[in-house]
Amino acid sequence: MKKVVILGSTGSIGKSALDVIRKFPDKFKVIGLAARSSINILEEQIKEFKPKYVAVYDNKAWNELRKKIKNIEIMHGTEGICQIATKTEADIILSAIVGAAGLLPTFEAVLAGKTIALANKESLVMAGELIKTTAKKTNAKIIPVDSEHSAIFQCINSCNKPYISKIWLTASGGPFRGMKKNEIKNVTPQEALNHPKWKMGKRITIDSATLMNKGFEVIEAHYLFDIKAEDIGVLIHPQSIVHCLVEFIDGTYIAQMSNPDMKAPIALALSIPERLTNIVKPIDWTVTSQLQFEMPDTDLFPCLNLAYEALKTGGSMPAVLNAADEIAVEAFLAGKVKFNNIYEIIKKIMDAHNVVPINSIDDVLEADSWARKMAKKEIG
Ligand code: MG
Repeated sequence: MKKVVILGSTGSIGKSALDVIRKFPDKFKVIGLAARSSINILEEQIKEFKPKYVAVYDNKAWNELRKKIKNIEIMHGTEGICQIATKTEADIILSAIVGAAGLLPTFEAVLAGKTIALANKESLVMAGELIKTTAKKTNAKIIPVDSEHSAIFQCINSCNKPYISKIWLTASGGPFRGMKKNEIKNVTPQEALNHPKWKMGKRITIDSATLMNKGFEVIEAHYLFDIKAEDIGVLIHPQSIVHCLVEFIDGTYIAQMSNPDMKAPIALALSIPERLTNIVKPIDWTVTSQLQFEMPDTDLFPCLNLAYEALKTGGSMPAVLNAADEIAVEAFLAGKVKFNNIYEIIKKIMDAHNVVPINSIDDVLEADSWARKMAKKEIG
């Protein structure tokens, strides 16, 4: 029986993880749940899964839940979430908090030497090097949940790792693939949230529409698999059946495929080295008879280039990239800026940033808050 802690249990990934766990009560026991503020959903989850530990980030929500749930001590704030992220009895921590808010709990889990199923890609974007070196010291294990990285993880083993020449991350291309540059300016948040293939949270769906999500995934892949930026390619693949291609020096490839459903990588991250039965619908190859691939249009989606640039620059730049993007996406969702402004805002903040080396988590947080402040000022 694996004891599981879920950070971000009321979000899209958290809920899918609980769907998997619900089906396999003999394999998993939920011992901790943490959420930002959706306490109605959290209350239901507490009743069903009876965790020992609960944490709520938002102060008001925490106070409300505390009045309703009397038999468990409910911790609060970042500190409370970090506490449940480091419980010694936990076999696996699913880190699924959205955005930069997931960094500290993930880092604490790494410091505590835990096994982490990582869905919060931002922590690797912001602090990849630091997390990698810390994990080496503490023996923490990171199992990717991001579908493309889970795919690569499944294709790489110690025998073939030295012979990899390139890895290819696939991207559906989002809702605006093939659009004209003058059309994309005026797309609405509603249109951007209408992702053709994946059901995800709001921020990542907008990041998918700008291709920034794929850029973050390039950075994530670099730190997870120790592969140089120039050896990580991106391919648009509208069917979202092939999740990665690993290319070897002899000109051959290994691909990982499934119908697009986040339950597949979530279930594998929880169950590894086992696999669980009936997680996703098998592919009907007579229906899915065409797999298309094309290079991304970086003229239309320039955010992808910003991510490569941030990775090559290193230091505090990837943290700045992430923070500026979070603020710009928020502003777009609130109707304050247009779709193409997202790129312009991030680019401006990156250009204004004096890169510093990252020696501690405080250096990361400082770069993060600087970029947030600058982006907010830019948006006005
Ligand atoms: Mg992904």
